[in-house]
Amino acid sequence: MASSSSEVPVPQAESFPDGRTDYIPLRKKNYDARKPHITEQPITWSNWYKHVNWLNTYFIIIVPLIGLISAYWIELQFKTAVFAVAYYFFAGLGITAGYHRLWAHSSYKATLPLKIFLAAGGAAAVEGSARWWSSLHRSHHRYTDTDKDPYSVRKGLLYSHIGWMVMKQNPRRIGRTDITDLNEDPVVVWQHRNYLKCVVTMALIVPTLVCGLGWGDYLGGFVYGGILRIFFIQQATFCVNSLAHWLGEQPFDDRNSPRDHVITALVTLGEGYHNFHHEFPSDFRNAIEWWQYDPTKWFIWTMKLLGLAYNLKTFPQNEIEKGRVQQLQKKLDQKRATLDWGKPLESLPVISWDEFVEQSKNGKAWIAVAGVIHDVGKFIADHPGGKALISSAIGKDATAVFNGGVYNHSNAAHNLLSTMRVGVLRGGCEVEIWKRAQSENKDVNPVTDSSGQRIVRAGDQVTRVNRPIPTADTA
Ligand SMILES: [Zn+2]
Ligand SMILES: [Zn+2]
Repeated sequence: MASSSSEVPVPQAESFPDGRTDYIPLRKKNYDARKPHITEQPITWSNWYKHVNWLNTYFIIIVPLIGLISAYWIELQFKTAVFAVAYYFFAGLGITAGYHRLWAHSSYKATLPLKIFLAAGGAAAVEGSARWWSSLHRSHHRYTDTDKDPYSVRKGLLYSHIGWMVMKQNPRRIGRTDITDLNEDPVVVWQHRNYLKCVVTMALIVPTLVCGLGWGDYLGGFVYGGILRIFFIQQATFCVNSLAHWLGEQPFDDRNSPRDHVITALVTLGEGYHNFHHEFPSDFRNAIEWWQYDPTKWFIWTMKLLGLAYNLKTFPQNEIEKGRVQQLQKKLDQKRATLDWGKPLESLPVISWDEFVEQSKNGKAWIAVAGVIHDVGKFIADHPGGKALISSAIGKDATAVFNGGVYNHSNAAHNLLSTMRVGVLRGGCEVEIWKRAQSENKDVNPVTDSSGQRIVRAGDQVTRVNRPIPTADTA
């Protein structure tokens, strides 16, 4: 190998921190970090086939297609169908309860028999070794939606579903993660070392033999219990990377793409509550409500009852609710920002009482309430209490009449009134003091939301006066 290109930094693969030499790189044996990777060249008509990961394409597209076509001539026996569905759940749980929640996230601890069961199920799903899968998945969580995310949905739904496997990926791009704990798990290491044997045995030989020796359906066992079952389990779990980042609600945080949806949960054995999962990845649950579909959670919980799983981790409910409240608050702030709450008092001109009276005499339909001047001109005809009452308040201080002297106006009326603000009365007591303090930056601190919008709570409008002051010059 030419040493002239050795300036190119050689990325460090995962290794044991204590310098042991028996570490197994995740990269291919012939991978040379010093050679430019094919993904660094744009795809053209002459090189596109070099960009394709043919091995993956063969296993996740071509073989299933052959299975689908051959199913046309092979009768599906009832027993084989039942077995295929049961085996589907076995393989699925190997991925969801094993690869994902046990090994990628350590959300609970499993005894050796359960680990072997899950590693066997995971092999039957044909999605790579637990070690490889968990390492990528940790990158996905750590670098969600960025270029280092191995299956970022920002590169398109199809890419996050299957494209990242069908097309070659530059190993230098994928974010690195720590998998020292997995390197110390004998089941994970054994499965990784013997992966091909595990896959052929668990994904194809076992289903063929069970259906063949059980009820003489070798071919059906191979096609339905093997190939097509693999196809469905693969497509279903790929949906966690695609659909769960694209379809549904974001009740905990909407800054990244993960979402909660029951449809995704249905196809992924409960992995569809993905917004929750990305916020609380160490929780052994994905669904936290009893009525939500999360068979993986139920499986882990049952294993605990049987003494096969322990140390099931859950996030404190208080923290979960905090996330939910913050997200609700954000939505509320966004909604508040779209509404007209009236001009902020500090941006209104200060008008003297004499000028207020003068302008009202000269045709302005101005009414003062609690130190704020409102132009009700456009509203007189719509006033539910009739034109006469509102017109009689023009040029006057209507604080008392508005607040119960004549009619105790509703919360909605105070809100509406605030949209008619045109000025603040000089000497208008609290309002002007507040306004002056605001401009001088004194410690007046109106409650504002994250976008700086002032929060006006019901019953808290500036025009609301709790005990109306009876005045002689109004009404
Ligand atoms: Zn995700
Ligand atoms: Zn995860």
